[in-house]
Amino acid sequence: MRRQRFDLVALVHELFELLGQQAERRGATLTLFPPHLAGEEIPVLADRNRIRQVLINLIDNALKYGREQEGQVVVALTPGRSSVRVAVRDNGNGIAPEHQARIFERFYRVEKSRSRAAGGSGLGLAISKHIVEAHKSTIHIKSVLGEGTTMEFKLPRPKVQP
Ligand code: ATP
Ligand code: MG
Repeated sequence: MRRQRFDLVALVHELFELLGQQAERRGATLTLFPPHLAGEEIPVLADRNRIRQVLINLIDNALKYGREQEGQVVVALTPGRSSVRVAVRDNGNGIAPEHQARIFERFYRVEKSRSRAAGGSGLGLAISKHIVEAHKSTIHIKSVLGEGTTMEFKLPRPKVQP
């Protein structure tokens, strides 16, 4: 792991650019919340490349398994005293409670046929969990059937130099 100081808002902008076409094909929108953050900076202390990989998987999942038209994928950033909460939410069908813990297992996919059609290997969340835990954080899932899914974790803010 290579921890460095980087701007989380710039990373989110970069990923919206990268995944913009995929979102458009799905008829989904990608938005940052709250909107005023678009012109601000939120420095964090983490491995930028690995966190980039986590966010790509969470946004990709939100697009693939989220609502097919009128999908809304929101990346919400909430700075606290010593950490920033990062949440990726969609307005898709959600994940039933009995699957919620298991989707972090390698190769576990909920609807085999639908997931297979969407491509992928079922490794994204297992890798994401591993990366987030290497940052001494945890991925939490909140999902309500018929309403959508939120995946969230925290990243440390750099200490202010005395
Ligand atoms: P990969 O990420 O390796 O390309 P994948 O997306 O199938 O493949 P994971 O990211 O680990 O693998 O997700 C595991 C399974 O969890 C998915 O196949 C899907 O069934 C379910 N899932 C993940 N995110 C969501 C979501 N936002 N809404 C509904 N189901 C989800
Ligand atoms: Mg995935």
